[in-house]
Amino acid sequence: MSLTKVQQAEQMCEQLGERFTEPRRIVYSLLLQANSALTAYQLLEQLQKLKPGAKPPTVYRALEFLLKLKLIHRIDSSNAYLACNAENHGHQAQFLICNQCGQIKEVELKQLEPEILKVCAEQKFKPEQQIIEVRGLCFQCQQGT
Ligand SMILES: [Zn+2]
Ligand SMILES: [Zn+2]
Repeated sequence: MSLTKVQQAEQMCEQLGERFTEPRRIVYSLLLQANSALTAYQLLEQLQKLKPGAKPPTVYRALEFLLKLKLIHRIDSSNAYLACNAENHGHQAQFLICNQCGQIKEVELKQLEPEILKVCAEQKFKPEQQIIEVRGLCFQCQQGT
């Protein structure tokens, strides 16, 4: 599964004339393997196990690149990064975030919230993206397991 995603990303880079460098590949693989979002610091720690000389800018540059290609998402409320699990990259991003175990589920709204669209129309604002982060308790945490 994760191999395919990495291969897909590699193809995407080739098509865009970008290089899927080793740090980019490793950071993306780490995010794919993680069951939750990881902060840049956590990524750096893991990257350094594989590449001892890795510095923070290496991670930030890789993250910036992966965000640009829409392969990953940034979770603003926890300042962390999550591999996109959708097939169509570049979709609207909605996340259900568990406050207890930290699990993040990516869900997809087909369109912007009607209320938001209404407000944008009133303000003559052209919306391009709406990121929703919903915090709460996942099903497992509700069961107290
Ligand atoms: Zn996504
Ligand atoms: Zn939970």
